[in-house]
This record gives sequence, C-alpha cells and structure tokens, in this order.
Amino acid sequence: MDNIMKLMMELHIDNKRQGPGGDDETLMALKMCYPYYDDSRTLRIADIGCGTGSQTLVLAKEVNAEITAVDIFPEFLERLRQRATETGVDNKITTMQASMDNLTFENDSFDIIWSEGAVYNIGFENGISSWRRFLKPGGLMVLSEISWLTDQRPSYIDKYWKTAYDNIDTISAKTKQLEQAGYTPIAHFVLPEHCWQENYYIPLELSHERFLRLHDKSEEAIALINADREEAGIYLKYKEYYSYVFYIARKTE
Ligand code: SAH
Repeated sequence: MDNIMKLMMELHIDNKRQGPGGDDETLMALKMCYPYYDDSRTLRIADIGCGTGSQTLVLAKEVNAEITAVDIFPEFLERLRQRATETGVDNKITTMQASMDNLTFENDSFDIIWSEGAVYNIGFENGISSWRRFLKPGGLMVLSEISWLTDQRPSYIDKYWKTAYDNIDTISAKTKQLEQAGYTPIAHFVLPEHCWQENYYIPLELSHERFLRLHDKSEEAIALINADREEAGIYLKYKEYYSYVFYIARKTE
C-alpha cells in the first residue's frame, strides 16, 4: 500500500462512515426495494466498497441475508467485523478483501448489489456494467453516487467536480445510463445535507485534528487534510448544485 493510501485509511478508520450517507437513508433505500425482493428465503447481498460498514450493519439487521462485504482495505474490514460482533450480526456478514474492478463472483449469484459512496472509484458507468453479471435476473442494484441536482451550474463548481470525478452527471443522465446498461430504474432520492455535514465532514474534521498531531511533519498528510477542508468548504457554498443520490434499479430480465 503506498503511503498516501495508508494515510487515507488511517484518517478514516475511526469514523462510522467513509463517505456522505446515513443509517436512515440506507433504510429508506431498502424500503424502496421492499416490493422487489422476498427474503422468506435467505438472500445473497454484496456490499461493495463497504468501508467500516455502517450500511452493512443496517442491511444485516433488516434483511434475511448472507452479506459479502468487499473493500480494498483489510483494516476497514477488520473494523467492520468488530462492529458486526458488537451488533450481534456477525453470523450474517462475510468480509472479502478485493478490488471492485477485479471481482471474482459467479455470474447470477446475488439478489442485491449495494454500494454507498464507492462506485466512483471505478466510475459509475463502468461499475454498473461490470457488476451487472453478478446479479440474478431481476436482482437489485442499489448505489449512491455524486450527481448534479441542476442542469446549469456556476463554472467554478462544474470544473472542480469534473476535475475530481469526470463521471459526475445529472440525475437524468445517470438514470439513462442505468437503462442503457440493462437496468430498469425503480427510484432515486437525494441525500439530505445532514448526510454530508453531521455524518461525514464534521466527524472527519475531528479526525483531522488527531491526525495532524500524529503527522505534523508529513507534507502528504497536510495536503490530504487541506484537500478535505477545501472540499467541505466548497460543499457549503455550492450544495444546491450537487449531492449524493441513491439510485435503485432492477436488472432487466
Ligand atoms: N460504503 C462506505 C464507504 C464509502 S468510501 C460508507 O458509505 O461509509 C469508499 C470505500 O471504497 C472506502 O472504504 C475505500 O476503501 C473503498 N475502495 C476504494 N477503492 C476501492 C477498490 N478499488 N476496491 C474496493 N474498495 C475500494
């Protein structure tokens, strides 16, 4: 693991979430799936880019399922296993260290693929097309993804996010991409502000202070924190133009 990756892992590991989101919002997305699955038998769920597993725990509590939680960092998976044990759902969760662009699951093996704040690592279009084969026909793809909320926006914010993530697009464009990749979109909703602030940027800011005390001589560490702080400031100023959006879609049979 290179140094910058290790620093990022260390910065985020004590937080409940590694990206914007919330337990209530995980549950809301799950409720939108209710008409489309039947867990009277045990379902198979993949949670890709699970981090320390906030959404994994919600799913494990709510659904009769065997969940495979995947992340690139073994340290996050270890933390997830601890949390699962404390919550009493460890028997429903298996962790797997793997890269999301190189998954070796069988075709047609999952009822639900869940991925919060993580598909951007390989790009939304790439993720929805390469993961599709792992879903059973009629299976559910549930993702949260940064998206534009308006058709027009100030050029500063347009450039900032396009430079950081060139797959960023409008909700209508993402919905179309789902259709073109062989899914039937079912629902979407925008993550509210508390998912970014209370659940992500504020706990991250607290971690920054501890992290800086440990790494006050590291230029890489300082650059990482400055980039996070810049992003949080930009969010406050431009939040009407973008958010994470949950997308719920079914693999078209
Ligand atoms: N779902 C969690 C974490 C989101 S942050 C939450 O919402 O809190 C994105 C996660 O993707 C991190 O845990 C990061 O370690 C993981 N990740 C980054 N690149 C990855 C890759 N190539 N394969 C698998 N996981 C990856």
